[in-house]
Amino acid sequence: MGRLTPAELAGGPPLDVAVIGGGINGAAIARAAAANGLRAALFEASDYGFGTTWRSTKLIHGGLRYLEHGDVGLVFESLRERAWLLATRPYLVRPQRFLLPLLPWTRRPAWQLRMGLATYDLLALYRGVPGHRRLSEARLRELAPYLPAEARGGFSFFDARVIAPERLTWELVREARQLGAACFNHCPVAAVEAPGAQSKRWSWSTAASGCGCRRGRWSTRPGRGSTR
Ligand SMILES: Cc1cc2nc3c(=O)[nH]c(=O)nc-3n(C[C@H](O)[C@H](O)[C@H](O)COP(=O)(O)OP(=O)(O)OC[C@H]3O[C@@H](n4cnc5c(N)ncnc54)[C@H](O)[C@@H]3O)c2cc1C
Repeated sequence: MGRLTPAELAGGPPLDVAVIGGGINGAAIARAAAANGLRAALFEASDYGFGTTWRSTKLIHGGLRYLEHGDVGLVFESLRERAWLLATRPYLVRPQRFLLPLLPWTRRPAWQLRMGLATYDLLALYRGVPGHRRLSEARLRELAPYLPAEARGGFSFFDARVIAPERLTWELVREARQLGAACFNHCPVAAVEAPGAQSKRWSWSTAASGCGCRRGRWSTRPGRGSTR
């Protein structure tokens, strides 16, 4: 399906998955759907990766703070994805060190922070980034001389960062397309209709032209949708 026009897509067999929004999540979902043999299409209104993805803080993290809420499954899954990105895209995704100083107003005692960081390392299966370390007061000051004088040592731990999230998004879109997904840039979806709660049929439209599809209807603004 890689290079279909929206009209050709609509005239073909029904889709299994229609992804609306070509940010990092939409691109990854389209890629995963295509990799799993689903007939998938991705529609992006503006430009791939141009939404929150482009404006993010660029962290590829396992969600250390989710451990506070006991969301171990989510953290494990995120750390697995972090390891995959570090292994497959070392030119784009790199380890990033964080410092956790112990200050008089730090909410958690040092032993709790250490337990949390050790659990974080364990859930990562020690893949991709160095493990956490205890830092003496002198070492912390050496690494971060700008910290308040009250800092009494702390910890160092690693997550990862992506240099250009929009490029990562584009790579995922390209891979989705190679795996057979139809991907449309500059192609806003204007409406999605679900005829009834029990119905498996649904439809979406992307602005004007009204193309039909067996498992629903959708349309694109004439001349807007393109698979490039
Ligand atoms: C300030 C900030 C910083 C963040 N930093 C991080 C971080 O460092 N690490 C992290 O993991 N998460 C971070 N997040 C969370 C972040 O939102 C997600 O990680 C991620 O960028 C969201 O990607 P997305 O694909 O869901 O959304 P987006 O990147 O916003 O993509 C949504 C896309 O949908 C498109 N779209 C919208 N409507 C339509 C339509 N009708 N038809 C077709 N397309 C449409 C938009 O054009 C857009 O491109 C941050 C969030 C914020 C607000």
